[in-house]
Parts: sequence; structure tokens; C-alpha cells
Amino acid sequence: MDLRDLTTHFEENDFLFEEGDTGDCAYIIESGSVELSIDKGGRILVIATLGEGDVLGEMALIDKCPRTATARAMEETNTIAIPLDYIEQKIDTADPTVRLFLRLVMERYRDIHARLSHVLESMSPSREKTSKDKINSASGEIENIMTQYMDMQKRINSALSLSTFKATKSSLGEETIKSTRKLVTEEKILKAALENEEFCVHYQPIVELESGKTVGCEALVRWNHPSGKLILPSKFIKKAEVSGLIIDLGYWIAERACQFQARLSREFEQPLFVTINLSGKQFDDISLIKTLSDIMDKTGVDHERIKFEITESLLLDNPEIAGKTLHRLKETKAKLAIDDFGTGYSSFSYLHQFPFDTMKIDRSFIGTMLQDNKSNEITKSLVNLSHDLGMNVVAEGIGSGPEVELLRGYQAEFGQGFYYSKAVAEDAFIKLL
Ligand code: C2E
Ligand code: CA
Ligand code: CA
Repeated sequence: MDLRDLTTHFEENDFLFEEGDTGDCAYIIESGSVELSIDKGGRILVIATLGEGDVLGEMALIDKCPRTATARAMEETNTIAIPLDYIEQKIDTADPTVRLFLRLVMERYRDIHARLSHVLESMSPSREKTSKDKINSASGEIENIMTQYMDMQKRINSALSLSTFKATKSSLGEETIKSTRKLVTEEKILKAALENEEFCVHYQPIVELESGKTVGCEALVRWNHPSGKLILPSKFIKKAEVSGLIIDLGYWIAERACQFQARLSREFEQPLFVTINLSGKQFDDISLIKTLSDIMDKTGVDHERIKFEITESLLLDNPEIAGKTLHRLKETKAKLAIDDFGTGYSSFSYLHQFPFDTMKIDRSFIGTMLQDNKSNEITKSLVNLSHDLGMNVVAEGIGSGPEVELLRGYQAEFGQGFYYSKAVAEDAFIKLL
């Protein structure tokens, strides 16, 4: 993916868009200048001249109404084009309060625009002779509306500026433009990777400690980069979350993992489960439960052989909403695990409110329990706590035989770690079995 993909070039007098068009992108001006005008019964009224760093065309993307002005390049102009689906996804996954505020702002913005059009209309030369008084009162009204408009822009600007905001030529600040460009670019690259099927899913065995038998596996995503490197999730999951692409990527992973479980059920007699990681961002997607349920149905897996892993931090951010979603997820008959347990500094008192089947004890405890008595004691307590709450345990990051011995002594049921195997591709996993 090339950075220049985002740059759109316009010659002098080219139109970026025209009044009435449907909006498919917004623009940040990198160089050059653009004139915004509206057509009032044949009279062209210039409403603004925009330069380097200014943004235009964003309104039509936010509320999907037609363009309310025409934008024309006044000289050779380069812009960064921000596509509609990029903004759409951002809005879809934004905090509901932010969405509400955005809607209110848009309503007021459009209202000001409508009032302005109305006043201009009343001054139109096509109407019967407009009296001097009428023109005067109309000019006063326009001034009034424009002052309100400028005030609103100022307030929005200061509300959205970071404390590090540095004023530049533009109303946005260089930092904001740079980071927007970076985000749009990164998302474009990840999206292309998803479309080009560059992602793949590897599976790490989950083993019954007592018998040493593999009873399931965890699906872990990887990126087969065109450079030939296999990129680990720590390098891209955060970006996918920030950009909102985790929603589509998450469904893609879930589908692959369910297909794999269906294959395991066909090829092996013993029941094997597959676990799927869900990120907090996916919980903001209102169709999460329905879509996951559809994926399980479509792939023909036994829902009880699918387990969703949710990290403790997700519960801390918004326990009430997370709780409701988890209970609905549980109604699909899939199992639930709390992941990386022990790292979230949370109180244990809330745990019983959530319908978890499994606790995954974070590998930071398992990896140090042989040397550090505190880790050892914490691990033992967590196993007991899980059992008291009716959950079974997976010890993560097992690296040696003596760790297995200790964990067996605590009656921990399952384990996972490089001692058994790292995550491997589908066929390699089948061979391991
Ligand atoms: P996680 O869910 O805690 O997954 C376990 C991670 O620990 C995996 O790293 C695994 O390879 C690694 N691991 C397993 N055994 C050992 C061990 O003995 N020693 C050490 N040092 N590491 C071990 P991986 O695959 O790089 O994934 C890192 C994290 O990325 C995952 O942590 C999870 O939070 C996230 N992730 C991975 N795949 C997905 C996915 O499909 N969706 C989402 N939302 N997140 C994912
Ligand atoms: Ca996990
Ligand atoms: Ca984990």
C-alpha cells in the first residue's frame, strides 16, 4: 500500500464535488486552495475559501445528506481523501454519547444552513422588487446567523483540541492531520490485507494436565505479510481496534475458527473445543451476538465446543454492559472464559456476576511460580477461587515439567504453553493430535 493512494490531485477549476452530489469522501487540503460556493437561483455565492490543512466535505459523510455546497480548486490542489466507509465505521463504533453529540451538532449545523438559505432566498432578485428595508434586515439576519455559526465552530474546535494542540495555518493543527493521515493509511493497509486474505489463524493446544491429552486449542491470528514475514498480533491488533477494523477481522477469525472446529469434529472422535479471543471493541458492535451465533450455525459447529475468551480489562471498563452482553452470549450455548486473569487489578467480588466457565490464569504468574513464592501462592488461590465459583482453570504460558507438577497438585485442570506446543497452522495441529 502506497501513501500516495490517499492523495487526490486537482487542477485549477476542477470540482472536488458539486451541490446535491452524494458524499463519498471528505478532504484535507495538503496544498493549494479550494473555494466553496452555493447556487442561489443562478447566483453563485462564495461562502468560504479554504487552504492548506482545512477540511471540507465532512458533513455529507456524517449524516449522509447530499452535498450542500460546490467545491472548486482555485489552483493546483492536493488533498488527502478520507473515504466514507472509514468515517462510517468510526461512527458506528464510537461511544453512544459521542454519537448522540455528533447528531446534535449536525442538526444545528444543518439548521443554520437552512436558515441562511431561507434569508438568501428572500433577497433573491427573481422575487418582486425587494425593498431597502427588507435587504437591511436580511443582511442583519445573515450577520446574526454567521456569528452563531462562527461561535459554534470555535466551541467545537476548542472542545476537540488536545492540550498539546498547536495552532498552525489551519484550524486543525499539524499533529491532528498527521495522526489522521496515519490512521487512515493504517486502516487502508489492514483492510487490504483482510481483502487479500493475508491473515491466517494458528492454533495452540490446550492440554488436560492430568492425562497430558490435548482437549482443545486457542485460535490466534497471524498476518502473512507480503514481505514473507509472519506478523504477530501484538503488532496489529491494537491498530485494528483503533481503526474499527477489528469488527470485520474478528468475524473473519471467528468464522475460520468455527470451520476448523467443524473439521476437528469430522476427523476426530474425541470432543475438541476451539477458543476465540474477543476484543473489547467488538463488544461495542450491537450485532455481535447475532453475527457470532449465525457464524456458529452456518459453519455447523456444536456451539458448546466454541469458547469465547474475554479479558478482565473489558469487564473493568464497563461491567454492566459487558455483563449483559456476556449473558446474551451465553444464551447461544457457547462457553466463556476470562482471559489473562490476575493482570487487571480488579476485585474478585464481582466475578460471580458473570457467566464464565473457565478462568485463564495469566502467564506472568505461571512463569514465575517456581522462583517466586508470591506467584505460587496467587496461582494456588486463583485455582481455588475458580473452583469455588464453579469454573475450571487453564494455566497459561506453561514452560516446564515442574510447573505442570505444581499445577496438578493444585488440581488445575488444563494448561497451555510452549512446553506443550506453540500455536501452529491447521494441518500442523492435526498432525500434533
Ligand atoms: P492471549 O489471548 O493471552 O494469547 C496467548 C498468547 O501467549 C499468544 O501470543 C501465545 O502465542 C502466547 N503464548 C502461549 N504460550 C506461551 C508461553 O509458554 N510463553 C510465552 N512467552 N508466550 C506464550 P500471540 O499469538 O502473540 O497473541 C498475543 C495476544 O494477541 C493474545 O494474547 C490476544 O490478546 C491477542 N490476540 C491473538 N489472536 C487474537 C484474535 O484472534 N483476536 C483478538 N481480539 N485478539 C487476539
Ligand atoms: Ca486468549
Ligand atoms: Ca491470555
